[in-house]
Amino acid sequence: MKKEANPNVSYASWAIKFAANLDGVITVLSGMSNTEQMQDNLSYMKDFTKLSEEEKKVLDKAQEELKKIPLIPCTTCNYCAKVCPMNIGISGSFTAMNMLTLYGDMAGAKHQESWLVGGHGKKHAEECIKCGRCEEVCPQHIKIRDELVKVAETLGSN
Ligand code: SF4
Ligand code: SF4
Repeated sequence: MKKEANPNVSYASWAIKFAANLDGVITVLSGMSNTEQMQDNLSYMKDFTKLSEEEKKVLDKAQEELKKIPLIPCTTCNYCAKVCPMNIGISGSFTAMNMLTLYGDMAGAKHQESWLVGGHGKKHAEECIKCGRCEEVCPQHIKIRDELVKVAETLGSN
């Protein structure tokens, strides 16, 4: 969709321009891994111009399409991890579930769950005691307990 609208710009440029276009934003932080990415960022941010109405419509359409995918909106901030008394691998579990939702790759999702949870010294979803502390701090207001039940049923390690 974005490539059709403008095949000459990167996917990252859409995201960064979207953030920079918001009212009140004076700085956008971009994680860059190499010189090409830095040059790409500079190419449109050096003399930044606001998004056109056409570009906004493309982004609105992209948002509509993305909302149709039932992903768990976890940002991996790990605030929940700081308060969980059971050391449950919450964000890792959700990353694995999202991988399954996106790609339908059960083996890959199970591997992710195993690595991101057990491989990082965390406990699996089925060990959640449902105390709810995680939900009090989740900025995304995710129903973490319910989602962990689904993870346990779908990717359960047993
Ligand atoms: S509800 Fe489960 S995941 Fe959340 S803090 Fe309690 S034990 Fe941890
Ligand atoms: S607090 Fe919420 S958004 Fe942050 S890692 Fe935990 S579940 Fe994900």
